[in-house]
Amino acid sequence: MPKYAPPSASVAPRFTGIRTFMRLPHVQDMTDVDFAIVGIPFDTGASYKTGARFGPSQIRETSTLQRNYSMNLDVNIFDHLSGVDYGDLPITPGYIHETYQQIEEGLKPILDAGVVPLSMGGDHSITLGELRAVAKKYGPVALVHFDSHLDTWDNYWGMKYTHGTPFRRACEEGLIDTSHSIQIGIRGSQYGPEDVQGSIDLGFEVVTANEMHEIGMKEVGRRIRERAKDAKVFFTFDIDFVDPAYAPGTGTIEVGGFTGYETMQLIREMKDLNFVAADFVEVLPGIDPAGVTSYMAANVMHEFISALALQRKNGKR
Ligand code: MN
Ligand code: MN
Repeated sequence: MPKYAPPSASVAPRFTGIRTFMRLPHVQDMTDVDFAIVGIPFDTGASYKTGARFGPSQIRETSTLQRNYSMNLDVNIFDHLSGVDYGDLPITPGYIHETYQQIEEGLKPILDAGVVPLSMGGDHSITLGELRAVAKKYGPVALVHFDSHLDTWDNYWGMKYTHGTPFRRACEEGLIDTSHSIQIGIRGSQYGPEDVQGSIDLGFEVVTANEMHEIGMKEVGRRIRERAKDAKVFFTFDIDFVDPAYAPGTGTIEVGGFTGYETMQLIREMKDLNFVAADFVEVLPGIDPAGVTSYMAANVMHEFISALALQRKNGKR
């Protein structure tokens, strides 16, 4: 049996205990661990509203409602995987390069142990630090990117390192294999047609929200699988991919997005991809009064972990 799992909710109610993701044990020894939840509460890379520094704590709070079994994928996560909450990495508010160093060093023992890190932001600038750590271990990875924004702009206010620029920097640093990478959900007003073209020029496949609504989620799933193939995948999920009706608590909302149902369906469409790391970013609890946005994030993470468990159950990976 896998080593680490949540305590039984039939013994102690789910609202009891110290807050960790899904009530998992807080463990930093990576022996007999398959996945580790990691908080990266850095939010001074944001171009508009800040507050994602409190994302990890609020996602942990709402995640206590998650049960171990995914009905959708017919898998009990902890029959197959051992999971822990690693806690938060140290970061330095206002100092992005120092923070990138801390993220790289912080993820190293997790990656070196062959454990899949599932990080909670923080704003989207943190993903560059994660990609540096992941590329050191695995080489350039395929990026599967859910977001209403491309995050491949060159700079904000002359600054090259922000939450709007991580994937351009990652390409320049050779951290991403764009020939297997895809950005989906792109919508909203742009600075110009060169925005989308910029991502395409970097080598990404871009699927806009308009196109997704036309072709449907099953076809989008096929496009993602066709693109990523068997490459090692880093999954990055910006909560503003979801329509603001379902996820209002985020800093740069865009209308015309996806329902909770569509989002969960897309996670399941990716259930066979070869994931080596993932992150879930841009949850701002301070503007999420009913907690629906962090609950959306917790559900996406749960379905993603269920997909990893299903792969193990089926003897893949
Ligand atoms: Mn983003
Ligand atoms: Mn975004």
